Amino acid sequence: MLKLYNTLTKKTQPFKPLHEKRVSLYTCGPTVYSFAHLGNLKTYLFEDILKRVLIYHGYQVKHVMNITDVGHLTSNADSGVDKIEQEALTEQKSAWEIAEFYSQAFFNDLKQLNVIFPKIIAKATDYIPEDLELIKELERQGYTYRTSDGIYFDTSKLKDYGKLTGMNFEQLNKLLKAGARVEFSPEKKHLTDFALWKFSPTSGPKRQMEWSSPWGVGFPGWHLECAVINLKFLAGAFQRGKLIPKKAQTIDLHCGGVDHIPIHHTNEIAEVEAVTKKKFVNFWLHGAFLVVKEGRMGKSEGNAVLLTDLIKKGFHPLSYRYLVLTAHYRTPLEFSWESLKASEESLKNIFDFIYDCLWWQTKYQSEKPQNNLLPLNQIHKKWLEALDDDLNTPQALAAFWELINSYYQIRKNPQLKNKINFKAVYQTALEFDKVFGLKLNKITLPKIDSHLKQLITEREQARQQQQWNKADQLRKEIDKLGYLIEDTADGPKIITKEIYRNY
Ligand code: AMP
Ligand code: ZN
Repeated sequence: MLKLYNTLTKKTQPFKPLHEKRVSLYTCGPTVYSFAHLGNLKTYLFEDILKRVLIYHGYQVKHVMNITDVGHLTSNADSGVDKIEQEALTEQKSAWEIAEFYSQAFFNDLKQLNVIFPKIIAKATDYIPEDLELIKELERQGYTYRTSDGIYFDTSKLKDYGKLTGMNFEQLNKLLKAGARVEFSPEKKHLTDFALWKFSPTSGPKRQMEWSSPWGVGFPGWHLECAVINLKFLAGAFQRGKLIPKKAQTIDLHCGGVDHIPIHHTNEIAEVEAVTKKKFVNFWLHGAFLVVKEGRMGKSEGNAVLLTDLIKKGFHPLSYRYLVLTAHYRTPLEFSWESLKASEESLKNIFDFIYDCLWWQTKYQSEKPQNNLLPLNQIHKKWLEALDDDLNTPQALAAFWELINSYYQIRKNPQLKNKINFKAVYQTALEFDKVFGLKLNKITLPKIDSHLKQLITEREQARQQQQWNKADQLRKEIDKLGYLIEDTADGPKIITKEIYRNY
């Protein structure tokens, strides 16, 4: 039984979707004003693991992610400038071009990391009419007020505002007051109030992304877009463009990084629950930060490392996926090039193991295993129990390593070679990879053509006749063709050089 830690209840709880086999999952997408850094990608990887575990359990997952292409300001206190508009000025491009360019770069990162794409990817700018509908409904129900720069949500009107943080309205406001380093608009009634609609600025550069509304020309607030996309695609609360709050259904899962708890997710909850009077989301899951020695990795911290930086240094992108698997998603993970190198080594060893398994499977395929010495069921059980325990990927990896190590122990013992069911071992590894996502099914045996086969046979003969020079010469020829030979008690094992790089 899958158990997940729920930020809302602060407990690890058995996961049960509202509809027996269908799961609704929302993950907050990127703000596309720059390349995603490894920290952002850690969060998308944790969400991918969650989704894969759900799929493994046989659930049909309806996964929706937004793309924030408008409304995310440089300050979370509703001041500052729109990150995308700002980048457009810097790069001398249109805001739309900026959003499109960085969205594509983000998709490319996800592909390289073997992340399963969401069923629906919704750009915030495509749902402005729905945004207006939600604001109108909030206004109708008395949750809004107007200031000189926008329409705001009055957080004092909601009984349980802030529940995701474990604090109430008063405590949150007190905390903000004590720690306020940012400028809060003096017109805001409470520090926790937030913008639903911001008016386009009357001075400074003219905004490129702006829309007319019943309140004035402007653009939606960041939290509103996620609330609307949830209501539309997962909660089923829009019909022919009209918001029908009582139709809204609770969503099973909603995720993001821990930084989203106090503001972004707290405010999404406020917007949705204010109009629907119903629980917005059952399970809230949050991933801890990727950190470096000095603290959180982030663009504004100036310490962002990109996936492309890692590839430029010669790392396989999946070595980062492996690194993320080595830590539980709720513990901060420290990034260093050394830890990445160690992950790459481990990944390489896993590839070698898969290859070894495939190779000896063909060698022994005619011989039925007498019995299988490897306790595959037991290891599989450990693996699944680890994942079911709030996605404990380090424990699940430990089960995988138990499989690998016990495999070699038996495989390398000449007396026991018939006691491995290679096919079953290989299939168990692929089963694990349904969640790990390390593309292990892409590893295949080389096609050995007649020329290569002849060289191998000749070399074997030379070795048997102790013609070491000739054998060595033939090894070099084989090497030039791109293959390595490992001599084993059971004959030569041929390995494609760079199996690791090429797959
Ligand atoms: P953003 O594009 O800023 O909206 O962030 C996209 C996602 O990355 C959000 O879910 C953030 O919580 C998450 N995130 C940002 N920085 C980090 C970090 N250093 N480690 C892990 N996740 C992060
Ligand atoms: Zn969001």
